[in-house]
Formats: sequence, C-alpha cells, structure tokens
Amino acid sequence: MPTSGEQQEAEPNHPTILHRDGSGSGTDAGDRSSPARQVWVPGPSGLATAACLKSRGVPSLVLEKDTCVASSWRHRTYERLRLHLPRCFCELPMAPFPAGTPAYPIRDQFVAYLDGYARAFGVEPRLGARVRAAAYDAGIGFWRVVAVDEGGGAAAEETEFVSRWLVVATGENAEPAWPEGVEGMEGYRGLVMHTSSYKNGDEFRGKNVLVVGCGNSGMEVSLDLCNNGARASMVVRDKLHVLPREILGISTFGLSMFLLRWLPIKRVDSLLLFFSRLILGDTEKYGLPRPKIGPLQMKSSTGKTPVLDIGALRKIKSGEIKVVPAINRFTGSNGVEFIDGHREDFDAVIFATGYKSNVPSWLKEEEFFSHVDGFPRKPFPHSWRGKNGLYAAGFTRKGLMGTSYDALRIAGDIADQWTEAFASPTAAHRSSDHGA
Ligand SMILES: Cc1cc2nc3c(=O)[nH]c(=O)nc-3n(C[C@H](O)[C@H](O)[C@H](O)COP(=O)(O)OP(=O)(O)OC[C@H]3O[C@@H](n4cnc5c(N)ncnc54)[C@H](O)[C@@H]3O)c2cc1C
Repeated sequence: MPTSGEQQEAEPNHPTILHRDGSGSGTDAGDRSSPARQVWVPGPSGLATAACLKSRGVPSLVLEKDTCVASSWRHRTYERLRLHLPRCFCELPMAPFPAGTPAYPIRDQFVAYLDGYARAFGVEPRLGARVRAAAYDAGIGFWRVVAVDEGGGAAAEETEFVSRWLVVATGENAEPAWPEGVEGMEGYRGLVMHTSSYKNGDEFRGKNVLVVGCGNSGMEVSLDLCNNGARASMVVRDKLHVLPREILGISTFGLSMFLLRWLPIKRVDSLLLFFSRLILGDTEKYGLPRPKIGPLQMKSSTGKTPVLDIGALRKIKSGEIKVVPAINRFTGSNGVEFIDGHREDFDAVIFATGYKSNVPSWLKEEEFFSHVDGFPRKPFPHSWRGKNGLYAAGFTRKGLMGTSYDALRIAGDIADQWTEAFASPTAAHRSSDHGA
C-alpha cells in the first residue's frame, strides 16, 4: 500500500494508483489512446471472476475490506452451518471440490475450498481495502475507485485506483438487515443480535431465546439453539414453503433442476409439494402455512428462497421449537408482546431478518444498479453487465451457481475487449461502452 505523498509507477500490466490529491502516475487513465489494462474486482464472488480472468490472460485486482478471503463465511456464519445445496451446485468455475468432501460441506470445508481456490489461481486480494466510493469518469473513460486502508488506524489512508472495468462483487448479503421501528426495542435489556453474529448455542444454554424470522437462517439457528439446551421460540410472520432437503435420496434442489428441463415450473412445483406433504406432513398444522404460489414460482417471482429442512421441523412438531406470531412491541426490560396479545420474557432476541446489498453506499451509479435495494435492475440472466465497463458478479439470487455463471460471462466479455485493445489501441473504449 503506498503511503501519502508516495507515487506508484504505472506498469503496463498493473493498475494505476492515484492519490487523493490527484498526484500519481495515472498515465493509462489519462491517455485515451492507450489500451487500458486494468480491472478492479472488489469482493470474493470476485475470486471466481478473477480466476476466470486469469485463465483468459487478463490480470485483475481484488479489493477486500476484511483481512482474509471468504470473510463472509469465516466471520459471519455460525459454526455448524453446512452448504444448503449439494456441493456440485456450489463449485466455482474450473475447480471441483476435493475428493472425499461430503455432499453438503460444512462451513470450514467450504472456507478451505475458497482458500485453496485463491491459492490455485494465484488470486491475492488486497486485504483491508474497503471501497468507499466508485464512479465513472466520462472525461477519461475510466472508473475511479476510492479505497480506505482499514488497517490504517485513526488516520485511515485513502487510495484512488483507476480502471477500465469495474466488477462489483460485494455480495447480496453484505450487511445484516434489521427490522425498523419496532416499538419499545430501545428499552429491551436482554441480549440482541443478528444471525450474522451467531456462532453457536453455548451462551444460550438454559435460556429463553426468541428467533425473529423463519427462513433458512432462522430455522437453522432455532435448531442449533435447541440442540444446545436453549428454549427457542421462532417468529413466523409470513407464509412460507418448507421442503425436505432430499426427496427419495436425491437433493430437492437437484431434482427440481432436472425436472425443470422437461416440465413447466407449475408441474414441478406440484410435484415438490406432493412429496413435501408426504415426507413432512401438513406444515400449516404446525403454524407454517404455505403461500398459494408454489416454491419455485415464488423464488423466480419474488426471490424468496424456500426453506430446506434439516431437522427444525421435527423440533417444531415436538414442541421443542415454539412457533409464535409477529412481534407487536417490546415491553419492559425483557418482555415481548406478540400480535395475538400474549406476552413473554426472553433472555435474548436473535434477528434472522436477512441481509442487504451495500452497493448504494459506495457506487455512484443508478442506471444499472437500483439505489433502492442495491441489486442490478435487470433480473438474471441480464444482471451481469452494465455500461462503461461496469459488471456485477453474484447478484443473481441464485447462490454460487449464479456466481459461476456471472464469472464466466464477465471474464469472457472483458477478455474479448482486452484482446481487441491490444489489437487496436482505441477499440477497448468503444467496446466497453455497450450495455447489457
Ligand atoms: C447463511 C448463508 C448460507 C448460504 N448457503 C449457500 C449454499 O449452500 N449454496 C449457495 O449456492 N449459496 C449459499 N448462500 C448464498 C451465497 O452463495 C453466499 O452468500 C456467497 O457467500 C455469496 O458470495 P459473494 O462473493 O457474492 O458474496 P460474499 O461472500 O458476501 O462476499 C462479498 C465480499 O465483499 C466484501 N465487501 C463488501 N463490501 C465491500 C467494500 N465496500 N469494499 C471491499 N470489500 C467489500 C466482503 O467483506 C465480502 O468478503 C448462502 C448465504 C448465506 C448468508
């Protein structure tokens, strides 16, 4: 990391670094006739993109705000988390999981896989570099990306990078989403946390814990609490689809993918619901009513993922996990009042209320990315490419399969422009100006 006042030479195959005062070499950035050779890829959906770029002979730089790769999985998931989908649907391009990896790898195995992936493809992110702002400078035809050195102490230093292409890979789940405006919450004196900080049930043994939210995270944290001797209650506010993780020994996700090749989505939904009822019973009886629209249709129209049950439903049936309705307000120092009027005291409240993109906080662009939710405005499969060399990796709402799809397409697109740029110095400017 250069220090203030230092200048970094612009090497032909390396990014140009400008300092906040505008000094620095910046020759590639300012010279529209030169074949620009920079790509910035913040975030490790970026790992896959950087690896694919490398395999096409295009160098890149990954900017990562944390001090390690795979930081979301290392720091913001709980210990017993397993991949929700079988490993074959979670592989990044060009790298199967090592032999002997179980069908549903545990968190540590997935982190080791990502570490190995970065090593195998020689992707070395610039760690501790939080992107604070990025904007397209039409005057020079480049992106200006400002990163803060997170290890820089009180006077954190900023570096400005310029690049022809910018791949946004900061994730659909960059920040925890908290519910807003719950009455009385400021007076609650018990422990309050988001599932992103939950590690294990040790500290909750013997305690009364309210889990707010019943998606995959809410269900799994409730199950983990239960397995660790806590009394878990789970707030179920909306209708939801709970599916078995496997049907007739085949992963429900894999089976759905297979059936969708031959049957319309409605038929596949009917089959999934038929088998779910057979295996799980009528979930409505246990306080989990199903939406009218089927699970796959729901996912494709609203992005809402069905819950793949790994045992929580059994605990709900046995009453070990209590299902409660939406919160009306917090009362007193430990009390919660629900919309059906009943009240209960809880030692802790864990919000399993999902995540949100952080793109609007740093990307100064609103045509391709929505300022409202920080996702590309166009849905998959058109969500990967914007204008002026802007790309999005990992915003498909299709998990790691979507990441792989994006990485391959983005790398192919940039590599074509890269080759053109070497063939004709001005061509890269023209080709990077097209939209999706
Ligand atoms: C609990 C959970 C389980 C999941 N299980 C599965 C599964 O089994 N299968 C599946 O396919 N998908 C799963 N997903 C969905 C998704 O595949 C993962 O969230 C995956 O980690 C997404 O990868 P990503 O690189 O796009 O985002 P992330 O893993 O979130 O990586 C984004 C990176 O960007 C960094 N970053 C963010 N903002 C900045 C900034 N301003 N400057 C610099 N760096 C920044 C972050 O520190 C982070 O390292 C799961 C998601 C969750 C939350």
